[in-house]
Amino acid sequence: MITETTTSAEVMALDKQYVMQTYGRQPVVLVRGEGCFAYDAEGKEYLDLVAGIAVNGLGHCPPKVVEAICRQAGVLMHTSNLYYTPGQVELAKLLVEISGMSKAFFCNSGAEANEAAMKLVKKAAKVAGHPEQCEIVTAEKSFHGRTLAAITATGQPKYQKSFTPLVPGYKYIPYNDVEALKAAVDEKTCAVMMEPVQGESGVHPGTEEFMKTARELCDKFGAALIFDEVQTGLGRTGKMFGFENFDVVPDVMTLAKTIAGGFPMGACLARDKWADVFEPGDHAATFGGNPLACAAALATVTEIRDGGWVENAAKVGSYFCKQLATLPGVKEVRGLGLMVAAEFGEPKAKDMISKALDKGLIINATNEYTLRFVPPLILTEELVDRAIATLREL
Ligand SMILES: *Cc1c(COP(=O)(O)O)cnc(C)c1O
Repeated sequence: MITETTTSAEVMALDKQYVMQTYGRQPVVLVRGEGCFAYDAEGKEYLDLVAGIAVNGLGHCPPKVVEAICRQAGVLMHTSNLYYTPGQVELAKLLVEISGMSKAFFCNSGAEANEAAMKLVKKAAKVAGHPEQCEIVTAEKSFHGRTLAAITATGQPKYQKSFTPLVPGYKYIPYNDVEALKAAVDEKTCAVMMEPVQGESGVHPGTEEFMKTARELCDKFGAALIFDEVQTGLGRTGKMFGFENFDVVPDVMTLAKTIAGGFPMGACLARDKWADVFEPGDHAATFGGNPLACAAALATVTEIRDGGWVENAAKVGSYFCKQLATLPGVKEVRGLGLMVAAEFGEPKAKDMISKALDKGLIINATNEYTLRFVPPLILTEELVDRAIATLREL
C-alpha cells in the first residue's frame, strides 16, 4: 500500500481508480503542513495562500489545536447528543459571547449549518402561525454548500442543473441590488439569507446599504436575516464576524470552515426568539458538536480571539491588497481582511495556478480572470512579499 516511498504520481493514479472524481484536483500530493506552509510527497515546500479554502485559519497544525485534539482523543472522542458534554457547553458559551447571538446548534460542515438555519426559519414561521411564510430569498452568485437545499439556496445554475427537482420556495436577487431586494421580500418571506462577502464567486463584499435594507425588510415582515458566515466568520474579514463590517446584526448565523482549525465542524447560531425555535426531535446530527470537535474548536476560537489574529488579518490583508494592486495586468483588487481577490484584464488566472505550484505557491482561481486568496490569518507581511515576488515572476 501507500508508504513513504510511494511517489506523487502513484497516489494520483490510485485516486483516479478508487475515489469518485468530484474534484478538479491540482497535480500535487500534500502530506504535511506547518504554519503557512504545506509539503508534498517529495518534500517540496509550498506557501499556502488557500489554507484549505479558508479552513486553516491558524495555519497548518497549530500547536494549541493539535494539543487539544490529542488530549481530548485520549479522554472522550464521541458519546451522543443524548447526553450532556462539558466541551459543547463551553464552546457554545464562547461563541455566544463573541457573536452577540444567544444559542448554538452544532453540526459538521457549512452546508449542514445552513440546513439547520433554513429549517429553523421555516419552523419559526409555522410556530408564529404563518405557514404561508415559507420563502427564502438568497442572492445570485451566492454559495451555501452542496446538499440539495444548500444548492437550491446557492444562486448558481451550474451547481443545480444536474440535480433537479430542487427544493421549492427560493427566490434569487442580484447581490447588492437594493431595489431587487425590496421587490422580492414580502409577507411570504421567512428569511433573507446572504453572505456578508460572497466568497466562492470571487470575493464580492456586500454593501452597507444592501445589508441595512435586508435588516429593515426582515423586521418589517417578521422574517429572519440569516448571514452565512461559513467563510467570513472568525477573523477572516479583519473583524471577528463579517457582519461587523456593516453594523447589521443577523438573527441567525452559520459558521464552519475555520471554526475548529481544520477539524470538521459547523455551527448555527441564533439570537433572541430565534434561539428557542427548535425543540427536542426537531433537528439533530449524530456527530454534531462531539467532544473531539468541540475541543478543537474551543482551542481554535480562543486562539483566534486572544492571539491578535483578527487584527493581524486586517493589517496583513490591507498590505496584501496594496501589493497585489502593483502587479502587472491586475485590473481590480477586492476584499476585506484576508479574503482577497485579484482580477486580471486577461484570462490567465487558471493558468497561473499550476505555474505558481511549480514555484512553491498554492493559490486558487474562481474563474479565468480572478485569483482568490484566503490564507491563514497568521500570515505575515514578509510572506506576502514572498508571494508577491513569485506572482510577479508569473
Ligand atoms: C464553504 C462554504 C459553504 C459550504 O461549507 P461545507 O463545509 O463545504 O459544506 C457554505 N457557505 C459558504 C459561504 C462557504 O464558503
